[in-house]
Amino acid sequence: MKLLSRETIAQEVCKAICEISLNCDEDVKELIKQTLSEEKSPIVRDALKSFVENHELSPTSKVPLCQDTGTTVLFAELGNAVQISDATLFEAIQDGVIAAQKRLPMRASMYKDPLFNRENSTNNSPPILHIEHTLGDSLILHIAQKGGGAENKSFMKMFTPSTTPEDIIEYVVDGVVSSGSQPCPPLVIGIGIGGNFEQAPLLAKRALLCKLALPHPLPQYALMEAKILEGINKRGCGIQGLGGSLTAMAVHINTAPCHIASLPVAVNIDCHAHRHCTLRF
Ligand code: SF4
Repeated sequence: MKLLSRETIAQEVCKAICEISLNCDEDVKELIKQTLSEEKSPIVRDALKSFVENHELSPTSKVPLCQDTGTTVLFAELGNAVQISDATLFEAIQDGVIAAQKRLPMRASMYKDPLFNRENSTNNSPPILHIEHTLGDSLILHIAQKGGGAENKSFMKMFTPSTTPEDIIEYVVDGVVSSGSQPCPPLVIGIGIGGNFEQAPLLAKRALLCKLALPHPLPQYALMEAKILEGINKRGCGIQGLGGSLTAMAVHINTAPCHIASLPVAVNIDCHAHRHCTLRF
């Protein structure tokens, strides 16, 4: 049995949130630099240069990459031989979220009630936690800081079983392109196919946490990812809607079994401030 204290989890979560708020995915940084080295359009080059500068300034100045420091979203893999001594996992994680908000100049981005009493919680709580139970004595936390602008442009549809891969490709490409510059391209596109009405969006969100541009292990899905990426980038929205060939940086598909009458498809979009990491206890 592994015993973890509330404080240990909170401290590590706080450190992780601070780290990813100042440093987006390293693969994104590399891709932006590479795109800058090849880009001809002066206005797109200006935007790319400001991204590179931002990536350099944020960790040195300790100012988060974006004014929207995001909602903390976690996927936990909780082993059956892990015991948290003095709190629930959610309470320990929430302590870390609140501590991070005190450590960095993070915008308080969460309302207590979504509709009638949009009073700010003032400390970025609560996080959104999904728990999967596993065997063993490890706790793994996949953490993301998810911006509201990209989240708002996410979408889903309950397709019927006669739907073809080409139908889904067209649906995703059209949906992403129609959001224009609002989700802050270049984007990462997570797609959930299968499950049911609540599982498909979770699959899509989880897909965002894959290593950037790592293809799906099954060739049929890998081909769909490549076609969707090409389809989005051909349509020319580009970085921050300024044109060029980089609207999306990566497309990741995640699947699950589904009912014989259904074919749910959900698309979760992440922006160029692609902030995530994994903690292992
Ligand atoms: S969508 Fe991303 S880059 Fe745009 S404001 Fe939100 S967090 Fe920042």
